[in-house]
Amino acid sequence: MTDTLQKFLFENASVRGELVDVSETWRHVLARRDYPKAVKMVLGDMLAAAALLSANLKFNGVIVMQIHGDGPLRLLVVECDSELNMRATAKLAENAVIPDAATLEQLVNANGEGRFVITLDPKEKLPGQQAYQGIVPLDGESVAVVIENYMLRSEQLDTKLWLAADDNVARGLLLQKLPREGGIGAPGDDLSTWERTVMLASTLRREELLTTDVETLMRRLFWEETIRVFDPRHPQFLCSCTREKVGTMLKMLGQEEIDAALQDLGKLEVDCDFCGQHYEFDSVDCAQLFVGGSPEPLAAANPVKH
Ligand SMILES: [Zn+2]
Repeated sequence: MTDTLQKFLFENASVRGELVDVSETWRHVLARRDYPKAVKMVLGDMLAAAALLSANLKFNGVIVMQIHGDGPLRLLVVECDSELNMRATAKLAENAVIPDAATLEQLVNANGEGRFVITLDPKEKLPGQQAYQGIVPLDGESVAVVIENYMLRSEQLDTKLWLAADDNVARGLLLQKLPREGGIGAPGDDLSTWERTVMLASTLRREELLTTDVETLMRRLFWEETIRVFDPRHPQFLCSCTREKVGTMLKMLGQEEIDAALQDLGKLEVDCDFCGQHYEFDSVDCAQLFVGGSPEPLAAANPVKH
């Protein structure tokens, strides 16, 4: 069983759609760490949403979707790159007790301090280019609504999302009204198509999304519409952690801190939050990190030549 992302376009209209099934990827995430039921639903929704949003990105890089919470759930992270390689993790507050029926607000926005963050990080940056980051308050009672509000405010794009996740399945549907281009369709046509397709999709219940495959959903919802369907793509779980990246992270702690930790523990052990990969650095490995001296932060931060 492979995961599927199906893009489509409504003929004569400026509306695009995507259906995604990331259940296999989702089971990889859950195989490494189990989460309380309410957390699973939010993280699974985010996984489906990240695949849907990244499918329309026009750059080679990674989209990172995060929720920073102020309640029992501290952090949710989902990453998806241009090849639809995905990974996800969540961090709970210490000793957090999370009821099955906890709402998004109770989980991550108990004091109104929760934040939704989207980062677009190109793989090969042009000189001076940085990752783009959008940070907004958690405006909405579900992941879908939070993202819809974000897309409207930050990207000026009318977007509708239907997301559903449980222990086994994570699926989603996206509809987006494309910026109107001259000469397409009759005047007002895109508006009515937008409203019609949103109405059709709104008949979709969570249970139906969880129990129906992408192909059947497409037929069931839009059988009366003329649709251009693109070749399906296949998201998959793949963690981008490497020993080198862990080493870089350790190096950023500074030699003093590393030496103190080595003194206490004999060696440093790091487990990847996303895939569980275990990394060990003994004193020789740590010494290697600092070979060639410390990086030169001034030169790196200020590449201007005089
Ligand atoms: Zn990893």
